[in-house]
Amino acid sequence: MKHFPSVLLVLMLALSLPAAAQNKGYGWPMDLRPASFSSTYGELRRNHFHAGLDWRTGGHVGEPLKAIKAGYVCRLSVSPVGYGNAVYIQHPDGTMSVYGHMDRFRDDIARRVREEQYKNKSYRVYFDLAPGEFPLEKGEVFGYSGNTGSSGGPHLHMEIRTDGDNLPLNYLASGVYSVTDTKKPDIRRVGFYAFEDSTTVPQVRRLAMISNPEKHKGTVAVSDKFYVAIDAVDYMEGTSGRLAVENYRVYLDSEKVFDFKVGDVPYSEGRYFACLVQQGEKGHDLLKTWCVPNNGLLYKIDAVNDGIISLEDDAVHTLRLVVSDCFGNSSSCSLNVRRDATLKVFDPVDTVDCLAALWYVPQVYSRDGMTMFIEPASLNASTYIKCEKLAPASPSLGRYSDMWAVGDEDIHLQKRIKLSFSTAGVPDELLDKCYIVRKGSDGDLSFAGNQHLDGAVAADCRFGTYYVAVDTEAPVLRPRVEDGARLPESGRFSIEAIDLGSGVDTFNAEMDGEWILSQFVGSRIQIYPDSSHRSGGRHTMRVSATDHCGNTAQVEFDVIY
Ligand SMILES: [Zn+2]
Repeated sequence: MKHFPSVLLVLMLALSLPAAAQNKGYGWPMDLRPASFSSTYGELRRNHFHAGLDWRTGGHVGEPLKAIKAGYVCRLSVSPVGYGNAVYIQHPDGTMSVYGHMDRFRDDIARRVREEQYKNKSYRVYFDLAPGEFPLEKGEVFGYSGNTGSSGGPHLHMEIRTDGDNLPLNYLASGVYSVTDTKKPDIRRVGFYAFEDSTTVPQVRRLAMISNPEKHKGTVAVSDKFYVAIDAVDYMEGTSGRLAVENYRVYLDSEKVFDFKVGDVPYSEGRYFACLVQQGEKGHDLLKTWCVPNNGLLYKIDAVNDGIISLEDDAVHTLRLVVSDCFGNSSSCSLNVRRDATLKVFDPVDTVDCLAALWYVPQVYSRDGMTMFIEPASLNASTYIKCEKLAPASPSLGRYSDMWAVGDEDIHLQKRIKLSFSTAGVPDELLDKCYIVRKGSDGDLSFAGNQHLDGAVAADCRFGTYYVAVDTEAPVLRPRVEDGARLPESGRFSIEAIDLGSGVDTFNAEMDGEWILSQFVGSRIQIYPDSSHRSGGRHTMRVSATDHCGNTAQVEFDVIY
């Protein structure tokens, strides 16, 4: 009798799992045990949805990767960003497994990739394969773990997809691998935000940020209407990483006012994760209860009054927050709140420097030669967009227009805005060499775009600081080997390519007049000679690079194998 409740709990958990994904005969992708994860499905990332699981690889590259189920390699991709070197395996049950950031492919698969790169004259390839090309048994090695693409350290990013390849599954939650997780999530911070939509554009102000809310004493003063944002992370045995929370709930006194469950998220909806995020300092984001209108994930949220909480009297009320992970471990905290009528004052909005933008209609702001166009549904919610002229044009400082700061860099856009700047300040002979430069918050300058319009130059942009610049200088190319140098048999080599203006846009490398595989990494063009290149003595290299304004440089030199 004593064990009855836990048996019942296990039974209930098992019944709540999606049937299609249960246990299902998947093997492990690597031999490393115990499996440990640095990142899980559905983390709150402001810029992209994390559709997979990041498996730790012991800090090194080169772990053999095994097919988790029989099938065939249906797609291969190579890219300097994103998943880097990646293998996609189609399984007969209709699911597909995806393995990213690989160090290298198995030799026969690598030869197939090289073939495709030469056929397309491109380092970056992404192509489908027929079922007969590389069939795989369950457990068969197809490559090695690595750190390629957008990866901040050696790990394996693995996804299981279904529904064509549209729906990435939260396969840890659905029990594909038996892992132990008895650790509760941790509610680290709770933010309180005053909310007012006296006009059609809401105003928001942060009222309080409570760290260690479980230990918090006292009462939080709130405005008539407010929302909360929760910073919570999950933990698991054997893993020091901070993992994703699966379910967030908020109760006002005893009434549930907010409930969000991550579940499985189709790729087409991943971008709406940004709508759930309250952006915090230093990238520490929180999940907010306010349901912004342009959120394609609203169907996963059960909220009273769009997650805006209002207090009807001046009594002390209790707000209870509950978070749980996908194994049913949960944590909660209670915070006392009381209405304070003085907390309603917002900064007046200057309408000259500000656009009151409704998210569902097109918006245009135009002043002194700068025009901003915003398509409908670019913004997640209606908001005020500040447009400020920071400095006048000054050609001697490289600025051929005024410098403008438009919007808040932290506001996430579903579609880019179009910025156009008058080219009235650009001399005629430089018109085709002008472009829009973005000045980052760290002062870094980068190319934003150069669509040439009548009397203007335009670019698709995020919010930020921009002006018009001119680039007439070709990139500077410096081979990192001496002309006529003898290279070791294994030798790859590179050419430094620096463009201080608009930046390197395209590049090309040829050996003895034939295209050769190369990649632009950082500020270098890396050359990948095959064994066929690495023989026969002296070879003539011709390498060129062109910047975004059409200025081209070329170098020729010899290498000897
Ligand atoms: Zn990942």
